[in-house]
Amino acid sequence: MSDSSTPPNLYRRMPLWAKILAGLILGALTGVLLGEQASVLKPIGDIFISAIKMLIVPLVFSTLVVGITAMRDPKKMGRIGGKTIALYLITTAFAIAIGLLAAWLFQPGSGLDLSFDAPVEAKEAPSLVDILVNLVPQNPIDALSSGNILQIIVFAIALGVSLTLIGEKGEPVVRLFESFAEAMYKLTELVMALAPFGVFGLMAFVAGSYGLDVLLPLVKVIGVVYLACVMHVLVVYSGLLKLLGGLNPVRYLRGSLDALVVAYSSASSSGTLPVSIRCAQKNMGVSEGVAGFVLPVGATINMDGTALYQGVVAVFVAQLTGTDLTMTDYGMIILTGTLASIGTAGVPGAGLIMLSIVMSQIGLPLEALAVVAGIDRILDMARTSVNVAGDLMVTTLIGKSENELDLETYNRKAAA
Ligand code: ASP
Repeated sequence: MSDSSTPPNLYRRMPLWAKILAGLILGALTGVLLGEQASVLKPIGDIFISAIKMLIVPLVFSTLVVGITAMRDPKKMGRIGGKTIALYLITTAFAIAIGLLAAWLFQPGSGLDLSFDAPVEAKEAPSLVDILVNLVPQNPIDALSSGNILQIIVFAIALGVSLTLIGEKGEPVVRLFESFAEAMYKLTELVMALAPFGVFGLMAFVAGSYGLDVLLPLVKVIGVVYLACVMHVLVVYSGLLKLLGGLNPVRYLRGSLDALVVAYSSASSSGTLPVSIRCAQKNMGVSEGVAGFVLPVGATINMDGTALYQGVVAVFVAQLTGTDLTMTDYGMIILTGTLASIGTAGVPGAGLIMLSIVMSQIGLPLEALAVVAGIDRILDMARTSVNVAGDLMVTTLIGKSENELDLETYNRKAAA
């Protein structure tokens, strides 16, 4: 007979967020202790990441079809779409502005003498017309198999609306999707049981592969990015939740924790999507329709952390190279940074590549990217967490404004 204080029992009784957080801390410590040898633990993390990625397409598709049919109001969908895009754009512009302000205040690049000569090619900013044309899938099966989230969203909405319009005749298909979505929620729960171990493996690998010699010269820029990220979440997100939604931000932070830790350790906001959907529905009480629409759109186009990071690094490089930035340059950084962040894929390292768009717009040397490339993963983890935090904040706010947020769940003391 085991008594209640034995470790396995203690583990079972810990809430999931505490287990995941413990995985993060133990993983980081293990990585520091083992150094590069900690890479043997990486496969544990890789298995976990593959398992959540496996959920993305079926989960998004079924949740959205069920959500749309439950809403029974195409007009409401249009309104939610408008609010989603507006809030995503506004918060992204705020994020870059905070990044610029922090870099201007703390001057992370002044006094540094780093050489760089590796040539880097600039990316092209995505054109709005291309984005619009690509929204409509020519072949929905193709969109599902290649994981094109925006096309999947468009098809799921169209299918959901059609099922609503045909009424009784659509019932069997709606029930099929309901049952399929339930199975996906269950599967997400099962996969999440692996999260503490997966996060442990990923963190051990990251902490083990970065030595102090790489981190120390750039410690100031790392500090500025992290500080600006925390400020953005605590000031902008919490402030908007309180001001526009009258919601307690602490509940939002607590409810988002699982997703934030998975985002931090995996550096992939797309990969974190199933966890975010679960947090929004289970911990925050957002409806299927709103969570199933707003979160996948956000994981594809809303990258506040990436935008913020682009602001900091652009100013950092300007300081490094002794370039004076004018007001027009700052405006340009906000504009191109917003566009570049929209075009950034939610996968590790994508933001670094898109940063070249911003840098070439204001004439900064692209070679300087090599300086931050060495520490990119450390910055990527922070910006990915903010990307996910931003999606969850907007989802909660829209849920509240559309009466699609269960306040009892949101205000519940302990989130699972
Ligand atoms: N890794 C980030 C994400 O998945 C994108 C980036 O590199 O900025 O959200």
